[in-house]
Amino acid sequence: MKIAIIGSGYVGLVTGACFSELGNKVICADNDARKINGLKKGLVPIYEPGLEELIVRNARNKRLFFTASIKEAVKSSEIIFIAVGTPPLENGEADLTGIENVAHSIAVNMKGYRLIVEKSTVPVETGDWVKHTITHYIKDKTKFDVASNPEFLREGSAIDDFMHPDRIVIGVESKKARDLLTELYRPFKVPLVITNIKSAELIKHASNAFLATKISFINAVSQICDKVGADVEEVARGMGLDKRIGPSFLKAGIGYGGSCFPKDLDAFVHISEKTGYDFKLLKSVAKVNIEQLSSVLKKIKDSLWIIKGKTIAILGLAFKPNTDDIRNAPALRLVRMLQEEGARIKLYDPQAINKARKVLDKVIFCADAYSTCRSADCLFIATEWDEFKELDFVKIKKLLRRPLIVDGRNLYDPEVLRKLGFSYISIGRKKV
Ligand code: NAD
Repeated sequence: MKIAIIGSGYVGLVTGACFSELGNKVICADNDARKINGLKKGLVPIYEPGLEELIVRNARNKRLFFTASIKEAVKSSEIIFIAVGTPPLENGEADLTGIENVAHSIAVNMKGYRLIVEKSTVPVETGDWVKHTITHYIKDKTKFDVASNPEFLREGSAIDDFMHPDRIVIGVESKKARDLLTELYRPFKVPLVITNIKSAELIKHASNAFLATKISFINAVSQICDKVGADVEEVARGMGLDKRIGPSFLKAGIGYGGSCFPKDLDAFVHISEKTGYDFKLLKSVAKVNIEQLSSVLKKIKDSLWIIKGKTIAILGLAFKPNTDDIRNAPALRLVRMLQEEGARIKLYDPQAINKARKVLDKVIFCADAYSTCRSADCLFIATEWDEFKELDFVKIKKLLRRPLIVDGRNLYDPEVLRKLGFSYISIGRKKV
């Protein structure tokens, strides 16, 4: 099938590369001409495992193309996915300017039937606005459909998630739209959930809000564990084996972050308010998330007494492992909070340093975990990258100024570190 993807970021590029891998002819568009020029030369602007190979292979096989012209993308494709960003406005509402601009551009460039699919995460009723916008700007009586097909991939495992999803959600309002999307997704042998557009839009916001709720729930439980000497890892395991609960997203830590959960939760609260419903539950989920990071800062303070003038070595900045994405990363906020208290920060992340340099001041960026630890007063673990699981702690003990580890991801066995002579503080587990 002939497909256009408008917005070539994490979601757009993965969607485009995967659809082309399945034999479709895909054109990825973006209004960032520099990004498109790079992509034409095989330069992938983000770190996502396996993405570069997939893009290079499909571009070479003439199934994947790039353009900075939305006109060109609209001209050559029957199905057009909108995958632009929907960032938060200051009040938490989703900024849908990009969606409106793209809908406008599609309308003025459309010649013949097009199916316009919302891939971006959008508040319920955005589909209606996309329809109004296209109807308003369209030049003649050209027919079109709008559909919603929310994306559930996770950065770091995006290709596998796209190719092997738990389910595919399609919100449609015509037989033609339903048939086109059913045909496009035919190679995927997973449940196809076909709904109307509004339900599909809501499925995405409700899913992300529910996952964030699980994280805040276990973080709240970790606070009790800290107070009474229980172990949150054991509690989570005991809960997670109950099939009604399930083990995923029950990992206590420094709180959720990234480009999706915080913004989608805020946008969901906002759109709920617009409908006249006060989603108090989700407001508490966001509050618990903010407080979790403050409690982590307190753990560092309680161990070091005075933060001013101390050097903190931080391992990890990306909001999760296997990505270079630092949008809304809790570690970024922690760095700023520590700097406000007068700490000197040394930092290492396997992939996110280039992005970190653009947004952080006065941080010493290091080339590896060991140089980060040299002469630091405390080692803080912020992201659970695999390479941090295999560190040589005998070496680290010699490098640190004092043997103190605050582990925001519960990566290590407390007993092992205690035996090595560390003071080891983690989340919701006994201090050693
Ligand atoms: P991103 O910022 O990585 O990419 C968005 C791209 O859209 C950028 O390249 C930008 O230049 C381009 N763009 C913006 N306005 C444009 C316009 N008017 N015309 C053409 N291009 C334009 O964002 P992302 O992480 O890929 O997210 C895109 C959407 O998908 C968001 O709504 C997000 O919530 C949703 N989503 C993201 C993820 C994720 O893990 N990143 C997962 C599921 C859903």
